[in-house]
Amino acid sequence: MTTITCDMCGKQIREASRHDNYFLNDRNYYTVMNRDVCPECKEELENAVREAMYSQKKYSFATYKATYQAAIDQNTRR
Ligand SMILES: [Zn+2]
Repeated sequence: MTTITCDMCGKQIREASRHDNYFLNDRNYYTVMNRDVCPECKEELENAVREAMYSQKKYSFATYKATYQAAIDQNTRR
């Protein structure tokens, strides 16, 4: 049994599973840019990134990546 801590909200995730299967999704944490985040925080993060991207005139992957990195840096303490 593995317990990990969400780097955003600090919540403990017991029996951490990254098992990702379309039919049987028991995934309960994600690793984004070397941080572990719970599904709720990942959603929050992605909404923030999406909103920031809407305000850009032109989509670019580099901007998306930088925005994502900035968002995760702001929301995690590591
Ligand atoms: Zn969390």
